[in-house]
Amino acid sequence: MKYPETWGEPEGVAETIFISQRKVTYRIEIQAWKNLLMHGKKDIPMQKHAFTLVKIRWYDPDGKALFAKPLWLIVMGKRRTEFSLLDIYQSYLQRYDLEHFFGFGKQKLLLDKFQTPNDKHEENWWRLVALAYLQLLAAKDLVSQLPRPWERYLPSVLNKLITPAAAQRDMSRIIRQIGTPSPVDPPSGCRFHTRCPIAQPMCSESQPELRELRPGHFAACFSQTHNLLAVFPNPPFKGQ
Ligand code: SF4
Repeated sequence: MKYPETWGEPEGVAETIFISQRKVTYRIEIQAWKNLLMHGKKDIPMQKHAFTLVKIRWYDPDGKALFAKPLWLIVMGKRRTEFSLLDIYQSYLQRYDLEHFFGFGKQKLLLDKFQTPNDKHEENWWRLVALAYLQLLAAKDLVSQLPRPWERYLPSVLNKLITPAAAQRDMSRIIRQIGTPSPVDPPSGCRFHTRCPIAQPMCSESQPELRELRPGHFAACFSQTHNLLAVFPNPPFKGQ
């Protein structure tokens, strides 16, 4: 790769653009060489696994390369030819979102703190953390910015950008407002009426009876015949 004269003509070329927050348009050139092999070792037989080599370069509006070195990626696997060059580029960009999740999950959501010898339990924990992260994203329109004094002039605060960290700071207020049914002192009527999006006045007065909506599928809800099915048209329940 040090010697461009040895690369040969790329077998695939694509272009796209990126418009920055400052409205600068960058041209992105993607080139690919397919079915390449590299030297392997006894315990890493890379010579047996063909790959697609992808080179990505960014150019500023004057046509100058933005970075001194191009970005090189390799795509491996039997299905590598199913991806277009733009798919590969977009997939690579997603790594920044994934990395944010892992960084934030470890620092703020205890992603790596649950220790168990049971890998199933560990996977369940990761799912819980992913759900907690999703809730922070979903709550972004409900939370308020609560910056520390030294954070008041950060661009994210000035632009009222609600990051997952900002959402987490105000999340306890949201949870207090929603409330949680206490098993010791449950709310009157349907236990879910304080947080149910389709609650009716009667829901706070009397307890709905448990009924079989369809074989093997029970529900206790005053709205079971229409509203509940409208909210969950394809409930993931057994026996539906
Ligand atoms: S609509 Fe159903 S789930 Fe919601 S509060 Fe009323 S009875 Fe409970």
